[in-house]
Amino acid sequence: MQTKLAVPIAAPNLDKARQQIEAAIAAGAEMLELRTDYLENLSVELVKSVIAEAKATNLPAIVTCRDKQQGGAIGYPAQLRTDVLAAALKAGAEFIDFEYENFLSTDNQERIKLALSECSKGRLILSAHNFKTKFDDISQLYRDILTVYPAAIPKLVYTANHINDCFEAFDLLHQTSGEQIVFCMGAAGLVSRIIAKKLGSFVTFASIDEKTATAPGQLAVEQLKNLYRYDCINADTQLYGIIGSPVGHSAGPAVHNACFAEIKANKLYLPLLVEGGQAEFDQFLNNILSREWLGFAGFSVTIPHKANALEYTKAKFGFIEPLAEKIGAANTLTIDEPRATSHERRISAYNTDYAGALDAITSTLEISRADLNNLPVAVIGAGGVARAIVAGLSDAGAKIKIYNRTVKKGKKLAAEFNCDFASLSELPDVEAKLLINCTSIGMHPNTDETPFPQECLKADMAVFDTVYNPAETLLLKQASQAGAKTINGVDMFINQATAQFKLFTGQDAKPELMRKAICNCII
Ligand code: NAP
Repeated sequence: MQTKLAVPIAAPNLDKARQQIEAAIAAGAEMLELRTDYLENLSVELVKSVIAEAKATNLPAIVTCRDKQQGGAIGYPAQLRTDVLAAALKAGAEFIDFEYENFLSTDNQERIKLALSECSKGRLILSAHNFKTKFDDISQLYRDILTVYPAAIPKLVYTANHINDCFEAFDLLHQTSGEQIVFCMGAAGLVSRIIAKKLGSFVTFASIDEKTATAPGQLAVEQLKNLYRYDCINADTQLYGIIGSPVGHSAGPAVHNACFAEIKANKLYLPLLVEGGQAEFDQFLNNILSREWLGFAGFSVTIPHKANALEYTKAKFGFIEPLAEKIGAANTLTIDEPRATSHERRISAYNTDYAGALDAITSTLEISRADLNNLPVAVIGAGGVARAIVAGLSDAGAKIKIYNRTVKKGKKLAAEFNCDFASLSELPDVEAKLLINCTSIGMHPNTDETPFPQECLKADMAVFDTVYNPAETLLLKQASQAGAKTINGVDMFINQATAQFKLFTGQDAKPELMRKAICNCII
């Protein structure tokens, strides 16, 4: 069964509804959801006119008149809402969506059943929403709906407060073979709206644009199609993604999906918002590994999970690239196909930041790694990226001084790699020839911030900012003004993503395609 992409039409009057229908078709809608609860002065006649507009498009339509208790826009009386749905069936609507809870009332049920029996092809979607959290027992609710009305299409939608809440929705889609609509709302549920197509949900919803979303976490059609390769998704699509918190800012989906498209791979890269620490990270990967049918095969890992990724791989006796072990952080995980002798899939951990950063430095400065020997370098920050860069520079023999806000963390990193440490207040005394920002200071939206005093920048310095959004940070602007050479985070990003792409596909990515994709999504 092919999932239909439904676009809600949530207009206050007929004219606006007409405009929205046109925009939905232009965006690529495969179905319309006529949210009649958004219409002002709702009447059966008005709804018939809107349905006539929808019918002229030849797209199937779901007519909904949502109860305010379940997310409706205007609180219309129950009698009018059932009148509207009965009239919609008469007017030729392919589907009506009625709240399961309200359908349990005998009066409502009789009305709707009669209207269904009087029309030749209209079908009933029975929906349940939980805007706060998961359902107590989603499988039972699914069975209850089908017991009450076996021909119904159950629609079960709930808010995921954490990405780990989504797995119940995935399981239900996987375990049931009929027509059903299942996904999660909220930022943590975003991926469920995309994966819904892979898992065979009857419908997934997307808005005309970001302003007209009718539910939390609803994506715009343009994002779904262009960024998340919606038209290419099928049951066999292999999944990848960036695990982090936050992940909304990441260029990963744009870059990797553009490269998957280029090589025509049936692969999709998703933003995977995994909030919390090691426990939540472990639970997420356990959820993934125990569901081979989800088809996840690899991950990029970012703040705050790079060390967690390494610990998880150790605990699972996976393969750890020696470099990742030495750095103490992994930014890439791959999951092998199950081996013939075991159902367990092996997880492998890598670090592509190390080489990505070193190559960005040497290629921009047109030097070799050997030229880094004895070079005085100041590294600001002591997090995941700093660890990879300090490990790389220390292997190359550079003389490194680490500056960090949290003294204990900075001192620990310095001790591990035999470097010096100083507090941030000592930055004005820097005597380095290469200055590297490994903090998020200056990153969008805080583009007017810089980690280093402008007056201390010198013409004989090279300045590398790992921040890649914006490509030219305030630090780099001021460094250029001071006559210093600059290295931006985009080059490092492309280098590390190219190495990840090779691990994900065995193929070489086109760096110029990555650059184009990243430039389209940064400010
Ligand atoms: P992380 O592990 O969370 O470390 C962040 C570091 O920044 C810590 O040392 C932290 O200091 C410091 N920091 C954060 N906010 C600060 C502030 N307001 N004042 C002073 N210090 C502050 O993050 P990460 O993974 O290393 O990533 C850091 C940055 O690297 C990201 O924001 C991103 O822009 C960049 N990055 C670039 C690439 C690339 O390919 N170009 C790849 C990954 C990351 P404390 O120890 O005191 O908390």
